[in-house]
Amino acid sequence: MSSAMETPPAVTVRVPAKVNLELLVGPAREDGYHALSTAFQAVSIHDDVTVDADDDWGVTVSGRDAAAVPTDETNIALRAARLLAAHAGLDEPVHVSIRKDIPVAGGMAGGSADAAATLIACDHLWGLGTPREELLELAAELGSDVPFLLHGGTAIGSGRGELLAPVLARGRFHWVFVPAKGAGLSTPAVYGEFDRLHAEAGTTPADPEPSPAMMSALRSGDATALARAFTNDLQPAALALRPDLATVLEAGLGFGALGGLVSGSGPTVAFLTAGAESAIDLAVALTASGVAHDVLRATGPVHGAHLLTAPRIS
Ligand code: ATP
Repeated sequence: MSSAMETPPAVTVRVPAKVNLELLVGPAREDGYHALSTAFQAVSIHDDVTVDADDDWGVTVSGRDAAAVPTDETNIALRAARLLAAHAGLDEPVHVSIRKDIPVAGGMAGGSADAAATLIACDHLWGLGTPREELLELAAELGSDVPFLLHGGTAIGSGRGELLAPVLARGRFHWVFVPAKGAGLSTPAVYGEFDRLHAEAGTTPADPEPSPAMMSALRSGDATALARAFTNDLQPAALALRPDLATVLEAGLGFGALGGLVSGSGPTVAFLTAGAESAIDLAVALTASGVAHDVLRATGPVHGAHLLTAPRIS
């Protein structure tokens, strides 16, 4: 029998990674962020985040690249838990346990995903029922990609990526991701290189707007059209910092991918394939040839952060 005094059971939320099908980057704004227009897709590489009532605030991380994730107050999942607590006027510490499968610092928004998952998990643990709009606002405070990881599916992001608009998108797509060997890329470093490349060329980035080619490819659900419409304005900067990624891109296209691009700020490389079997074939070719030490297959779009377990109603 449960009672009001009983500690609520832990809550686990599953959250996907994202890939940017189109990432158009404009000039730096006064607040230092760049204006963006992006088409996000949530893909089936997931982190699981569990929150549990505890005597003190804390976080532990296991799984892929766990050693590269901070377990102090800078962990974005812990910041998300504290932000929601402050918003609700609560002082109820939790322990956050993150099981990672999303590559860290890979351009797939793993940290943002954990933050989105923590918001949903704590909201349930504490029985808050925070309105969706408020959760999206808290998410945007935590980071530009966090609102999309709550949303999931396919969506257009503007502003610095945090303003979401739904988009008519058809189809289910088969992806192969190649996480980079060694350390990831820091997002600010990639934007710094983007600015440097423009300064060197004497060019100013145009104000970003969703391209008609991408919008029409999304509406059609046609994988070939989607691959043709891929654009990532950060790719030249990511390739300048990590020239080895060009070899991966070339190899994947040579092995029959419909299209390939650097995911977000990189260094993960994303390939779109014609179907489940082509994805297996591509993954095998990339590893057998020695181009990739590791590959992840995924489908998209998938749901945003969602509960795997919920507290019992007593
Ligand atoms: P984005 O695509 O949003 O730029 P990313 O996928 O490139 O992000 P993340 O995996 O979010 O990068 O990690 C960026 C940095 O954030 C890491 O180097 C790490 O030090 C820090 N970090 C803080 N909290 C987390 C977390 N919960 N998971 C992963 N990284 C975290």
